[in-house]
Amino acid sequence: MIDVSEKLEGLNWIARPKLLALRRLGVETVEDLLAHFPRRHEDRTEFPKFPREESDVPICLCGEVVKTSLRRFGGWKKIFEATLQESHPNALSEPLVCRWFNLHYVQKMIATGQRMVVFGKPRLRGKRICMDHPEFEVIENDEEISIHFRRITPIYPATEGLSQRVLRSMIHRLLNELPSAPAGLETLAPSNLVRGERREAIRTIHFPDSWEARDAAREHLVLTEFFLMQMLIASRRADASTRRGEKHCGAGALVDRFLKSLPFELTAAQSKVIGEIRHDLAASHPMNRLLQGDVGSGKTVVAIAAMLLAVESGYQAAFMAPTQILAEQHYDVLRRWLEPLGVCMALRTAARQEESGPLPLFERSENLGSAHLQRAGDGILPLRTFSETQSTSGAHYSRRRLPHFEKPWTIYAVTTTAVRRRALSPQARTIIVNAWRHFHNSRYELFAICVMPDHVHALFQPWPKNEAPADETRFWSLTELMRSLKSSTAREINRAEGKAGTVWEKETFDRYIRSDRDLAEKFHYILRNPWDAGVAKQNQDYPWIWTPQDEMHILGSSSPQNAATSTLQACAPQISADEPQIIVGTHALLYDSVSFSNLGLVVIDEQHKFGVAQRAQLSAREPVPDVLVMTATPIPRTLTMTIYGDLDVSTIDEMPANRGKIVTAVRDVSKLGEVLAFLRTQLQAGRQMYVIYPLIDESEKIDAKAAATEYELWRERLRPFRCDLLHGRIPGPEKQEIMERFRSGDTNALISTTVLEVGVDVPNATVMLIENAERFGLAQLHQLRGRIGRGEHKSYCILLTSAQAKEASEKLAVLERTSDGFKVAEADWELRGPGDLLGTAQSGLPALKIGNLRTDAHLMLRARAAAVSILETDPQLELPENQRFRRLIVEQQGRTFSNVS
Ligand code: ADP
Ligand code: MG
Repeated sequence: MIDVSEKLEGLNWIARPKLLALRRLGVETVEDLLAHFPRRHEDRTEFPKFPREESDVPICLCGEVVKTSLRRFGGWKKIFEATLQESHPNALSEPLVCRWFNLHYVQKMIATGQRMVVFGKPRLRGKRICMDHPEFEVIENDEEISIHFRRITPIYPATEGLSQRVLRSMIHRLLNELPSAPAGLETLAPSNLVRGERREAIRTIHFPDSWEARDAAREHLVLTEFFLMQMLIASRRADASTRRGEKHCGAGALVDRFLKSLPFELTAAQSKVIGEIRHDLAASHPMNRLLQGDVGSGKTVVAIAAMLLAVESGYQAAFMAPTQILAEQHYDVLRRWLEPLGVCMALRTAARQEESGPLPLFERSENLGSAHLQRAGDGILPLRTFSETQSTSGAHYSRRRLPHFEKPWTIYAVTTTAVRRRALSPQARTIIVNAWRHFHNSRYELFAICVMPDHVHALFQPWPKNEAPADETRFWSLTELMRSLKSSTAREINRAEGKAGTVWEKETFDRYIRSDRDLAEKFHYILRNPWDAGVAKQNQDYPWIWTPQDEMHILGSSSPQNAATSTLQACAPQISADEPQIIVGTHALLYDSVSFSNLGLVVIDEQHKFGVAQRAQLSAREPVPDVLVMTATPIPRTLTMTIYGDLDVSTIDEMPANRGKIVTAVRDVSKLGEVLAFLRTQLQAGRQMYVIYPLIDESEKIDAKAAATEYELWRERLRPFRCDLLHGRIPGPEKQEIMERFRSGDTNALISTTVLEVGVDVPNATVMLIENAERFGLAQLHQLRGRIGRGEHKSYCILLTSAQAKEASEKLAVLERTSDGFKVAEADWELRGPGDLLGTAQSGLPALKIGNLRTDAHLMLRARAAAVSILETDPQLELPENQRFRRLIVEQQGRTFSNVS
């Protein structure tokens, strides 16, 4: 008797290589294999005649291979062609040419005389009807032919080493060997939701007798899958509403002052949403609310109002943005509005840290230097302390005094090895850590050090020397620093160990840290090194690691506090005087347990980059903060029911009244001349513009080069107007200056990658030109377009495409037609086909095996209603008839959290 939870090994008839291939598909148990549902079915009972025209719909054909050939083109590239003849050809029959480019294995699989089933789109190529890269299956006339042919045949997601045929035979055999009512295949969904039995549905979905039977089976399985998902969501919600949180809502005086200070009236939608949030904040269970509103609908104001309510009741609020640029921009906006109200704020990003407020609530402790920390992931991120722009105004640094490979203001990763890999005793390791600490804050900023048994990793940034003349900054060079560190430690180690001789290798490997990401990676690498290298056991402490945070512990909380009394203390009794009331930062803030003492509300901007896993992190905090997530990407309804199913939804469905219209036009690059002329008229009229060019990956050198070329081009084109270049690799402070120049009107045009995408707000910018627009998704273009039309002037969004991208420009026409974000989102979703918009991975729900969030939306509605009604009558699932659901939820939960980490 087969148990469906049994491993496939236990069946004894699946060969080992096949088992491995199955594992690659995530199939390990009998149940997994049964749930390896067909991707589609082919009707192999009868085939259509060979086509004589092109078709955009893929078709399934059967024929005999009459000729094969291999041709070369363009040097080493090869085309393999197989010519197929219809089974019962007549005089008018055209052969079909199937072609594969550069696929060596195909030619080994196909031979003249074979009968084949192919699936693909027929195309006219010259005079021939061709199918390029069709899916195919060679028909073999053996006793198994009835499984593969002359029926509605399942086509599976396959993998290397596991052909359709093999997979199909396997599943067929498994179904045959299954007892008629196997344990573990009971019907899972309530009978008022699904028809028939689950085990029958599973049999039928694989080998249906008719299309109707297939559809019914699929509906059963999809409904079941959706039902389980909705039960999970509904139970999460039920949990959340029984969880106790704090009330985080003040009386509203502060908000009123804020709203009065605004130069505009709230829209009705904004007021409505603020009301909803206020209600949640005042309730004692934790808020989990999604705020959606198109770009420019004024979500920031709503967020501020929410934060002020929390602040007024004595809690801290955090505002998280997905990128640094955005965090900084929000910080500036918030400061402008909130400083006059006496709210104390702080910015926390990897590149910049700043406290603001009516009074500096504490001075930075000099002896701590600028050692500030931020938690990120499983570790702590060092924060950069210097930036070139901050520190070099007026002064110049003498490069001459640095070896050629060194740079001022740079962070180094250094690995120093003990000579001949000599093992460093624990005592020696302590000496080394102390030596590095000793010069910390006088010669360098030390971000992290780890002394391994025979080498040392350090991450640090040399500081300027104090004795340098005022007009010149001289840095401690790497050579000097390493020499003095090595010689002082060598002496001490030898003394301690009663030895003499060399301790260190001469060479010290080093590299620059090139980006914040690089910094974070190296930092984590160092912190994890002893465990990753196996020097320390997983649950064991390793004492020779040091970060500035340890220093803080060593020094205790000796940061001198400014005793100045603040107006804020009066209204924020629970936050100590040296803490900001509103903290703005990047999503990394989430992991920060250091900088919050009393977090009451978290606002997360631009939700779609922020998954359920992160949200779970937040609600795992004690005490639970209220959470407001904001998104400008309107989310189709089916998705809000699933991915955001555990959230309450507020929608701002109205734009502020003063908005100028945005006209969107798709233009071919050949029209660039006319477009330029138009751009000039706008610039001459005093408006500003953005040029966006697509760089998908912001990480590499090539991009920087492309950016520079792009920039030169546009500078020429727009001369004499002033341009600036913005891309992801520009360091934070410089980025800020660029944005500032643009905001103040010093530059007329900003040439940028999509770093501009979210949140940037310059009302005088009225033109946006997007190059290679076809490379972007509709939703993203809509986001970008939201950067203009923010003032009273009429705005223009020009989407440049090339003639080759005809299909793409058709899709872009959606943007010409509508400026409604919801419509764009729906269209975008449709265009992307069956794949789901955000991926269920982000949803914190088990991946869908058969259902499709978009096309099966109506089934989702039914499943949801069923789940909700069960949990409404029995929130704790205590009734006997509901016990089976309880078990399911627990099972699902287990799966969920293993795939969201
Ligand atoms: P988004 O929803 O895209 O985050 P923002 O909050 O950035 O939009 O708002 C866009 C601009 O609209 C800002 O300059 C903001 O000051 C302004 N704004 C917000 N609400 C209103 C309103 N009710 N009337 C007029 N302007 C508003
Ligand atoms: Mg915004």
